[in-house]
This record gives sequence, structure tokens and C-alpha cells, in this order.
Amino acid sequence: MVEMKTGFVKLAVKEIQEDSIVDGEGIRSVIWFQGCPHHCESCHNPETWDFDAGYEVPIEEVKEQIDELEFQAGVTFSGGDPMCQIEALVELASYVKGKGMNVWCYTGYEYDDLIKLNEKNPLYMEALKNIDVLVDGPFVLDLKSFNVPFRGSSNQRLIDVPKTLKKGKVVTLEKYN
Ligand code: SF4
Repeated sequence: MVEMKTGFVKLAVKEIQEDSIVDGEGIRSVIWFQGCPHHCESCHNPETWDFDAGYEVPIEEVKEQIDELEFQAGVTFSGGDPMCQIEALVELASYVKGKGMNVWCYTGYEYDDLIKLNEKNPLYMEALKNIDVLVDGPFVLDLKSFNVPFRGSSNQRLIDVPKTLKKGKVVTLEKYN
């Protein structure tokens, strides 16, 4: 977890990346968070690990960029691990939802890890309430696969978060199982 100045988020890329088709369903915009504690072997973005690197961007500035998005199905939070800046993630994810767009979020934590983290900090549940699809778990080189859409390795799940919260157990997106 990282302590950020209130009102700021540490990003790997200052600008929102628009028009991605590989970071979730539909044409999406991606917000790349800086900092990741998982250090998976053969991670595609090792430059996003260092919590001291990247750009401190005012959250209001990111919201202004979100306001300008057009023709995007939704926004994906990736990194890095967005769950390591939980306050910023909650604020931005709820802002995206308020704009009527869906939210995907990648994390190296597993869903159960987040539920445990929530016992100490209820912001994790707040984040989950504003996420439609959680792509959970670390990248595992031995389980690398090209047959798992939107993921790198077969241990990672596409979790339907609203259904999961309703049922109290992990429900994955059926069409990609
Ligand atoms: S969780 Fe993602 S960003 Fe972090 S080390 Fe693993 S693959 Fe890389």
C-alpha cells in the first residue's frame, strides 16, 4: 500500500490511453497506475513496479480527462496495481460509474485478499462496489496462456463483481469461462 498526497494519484502514464481493445470488453480507455508490490516473473510492465517513479497527477485533472472521453465503452484501471492507491481508485472508479461507463480493474491480489484487506480498510469494498469486472491474481509464467481473453495466465479470473457481491461468492463472467 502506498501513502499518496490527498487529492493526487500516482500514474505510470499521465494521459488516459484511449481506444484500447485488449484491456477489457469493447473500446476502452485505460488509466495506468504506478506501483506494484507483486513483482510477477516476466511481468509485461516492470517499469510500473516502483512506487517512487511515475507522475503525481491531481485527481481533478484525471476527472477532467474522463469528462472528455467519447465513444468509449468504459474505463479500465491497470498498472501497476490500482488497489495499492485505494483512495484514488475509489474516487476515480465512482466518477467513471457516475458518467454511465463501466469499470474494469486489474489487480495482482486475489479477490479473497481484497476481502481481507477490507477488514482493516473499508475502502476496498467501496472500490469493489464501483467495479464491474475485476481481473484478479498475479501473472504466473507457468500458467501463461493465449486462450484466456483479457488475461495473461489461466489462474487469473474475470470476476463479475456485482454478481459476486450479491451471491457472497466469486462469480466469473460466463461467456469467457
Ligand atoms: S500484478 Fe501485474 S503489474 Fe504487478 S507484477 Fe504482476 S503482472 Fe506486473
